[in-house]
Amino acid sequence: MTRTVPIDWEELLDRLSRFYGSGDWRVPYLRDHAEDPFQVLIGTILSQRTKDANTDAASAKLFARFPDAASLARAPTREVERLIHATGFYHVKARKIRECARELLTRFDGQVPRDLEQLLTLPGVGPKTANCVLVFGYGIPGMPVDTHVHRIANRLGAVRTRTPEDTEAALRRILPQPYWNPLNPIIVQHGQNLCRPRGPRCHECPILDLCATGIARRAGTATPRPEDRARRTADGTAGPAHPRRTRSTLRK
Ligand code: SF4
Repeated sequence: MTRTVPIDWEELLDRLSRFYGSGDWRVPYLRDHAEDPFQVLIGTILSQRTKDANTDAASAKLFARFPDAASLARAPTREVERLIHATGFYHVKARKIRECARELLTRFDGQVPRDLEQLLTLPGVGPKTANCVLVFGYGIPGMPVDTHVHRIANRLGAVRTRTPEDTEAALRRILPQPYWNPLNPIIVQHGQNLCRPRGPRCHECPILDLCATGIARRAGTATPRPEDRARRTADGTAGPAHPRRTRSTLRK
């Protein structure tokens, strides 16, 4: 089993910040609705299994008509479905967000709780959504772990985990709390740009020498995640972990 390695988080945050610039790296649906915990909550539920651009468009339309729990709880189902259609799974999502709005009204007086355990009792709310509400809605330290954070934490060698839930628990133990909120959006940004799921561009990466996967790939040794290891080609040389698709592989 590959060991975890200690990470210099200050150095990592500093380098990624310089590399990507000092912009606001929150995705638009979180940035535009920040400081409104209700809209962060509903926007994050809509963001499940869709692209950010779809969530941005649907959130803007939905909140223009139904900006709070009281209005969304009373909203006609058909209209909600139409407004969020772009996010996919719109029947299920419409039901979830209206149930969520009703629960907020009946159990929390229309307010979104500031407590992780209470958030997790709401319909459609899992650990990532609950943590997003804390971080982006309330500015409270939280640990939203999506696929990017899960993958990169494992590639760095900071954790050795199988699920985002396990990664959240591990990062809560090892990552000092002052880094929780500043690191999250820039790690997501890194996952969308250089440290992609397939074929991370380690040769361009500003944190290569802090990363167990980057160091291992450069040295040609085993990486923390088996799926990031170079494959052996027929002639015994190391090939890319995820070979470029050819016409024949595309047909399979
Ligand atoms: S060195 Fe490679 S694997 Fe490590 S963070 Fe950078 S792009 Fe990702």
